[in-house]
Amino acid sequence: MKSLLKIIIIAVALLSLSFVSNENKDFVVVIDAGHGGKDFGAKHTTFLEKELVSAISQKIAKINTDKNVKIYFTRTSDEFIELQKRVEMINEIKPNLLLSLHVNQNKNTETNGFEAYVSDKNSNFEKSEELAKKLVTLFENQTPLKNRGVKKGMLYVLKKTEAPAIAFEIGFITNEKDRSYVCNEQGQTQIAQSILDFVNTIKN
Ligand SMILES: [Zn+2]
Repeated sequence: MKSLLKIIIIAVALLSLSFVSNENKDFVVVIDAGHGGKDFGAKHTTFLEKELVSAISQKIAKINTDKNVKIYFTRTSDEFIELQKRVEMINEIKPNLLLSLHVNQNKNTETNGFEAYVSDKNSNFEKSEELAKKLVTLFENQTPLKNRGVKKGMLYVLKKTEAPAIAFEIGFITNEKDRSYVCNEQGQTQIAQSILDFVNTIKN
């Protein structure tokens, strides 16, 4: 009789535990700040892509207060990490979404706006494309930058990540208007907040 009671207590405990974990199921996002260390990425005068995307990542970490959204970062300092290593980290985390952050450059200083890249070699290509469309629409509504749409890209992290994956090029460092927004503290905060708003709309 005693052992039966024990079994019942354990069963109830397990049941309530599984209920709690279902209730608090995290939505997991990996933010991949592009480049780092010796790899500067795009640059214009003293502005470096690796620093801009790092600053935006840090703001995302600081602003996120949603306990059901768990955010991991492939890098939190100015270090060079091989793409293969990044993918290994991402696939170990098994996120709901990978968002790789970049800033663009072009010889034509008039070229401006943001664009999202997805890869048809990604195992979750269709989901990636669906999410990327939501991302660019939200950015079109919430930021002053121009929407250049969703494009297909062959980036290594997009192809190899075993989860929906988007590379997001947030404006052109070579365009004056984009640069003043992306390099500005207020602009970076708005970008970080918009990314979190996007995550909030897709997490359910
Ligand atoms: Zn880049």
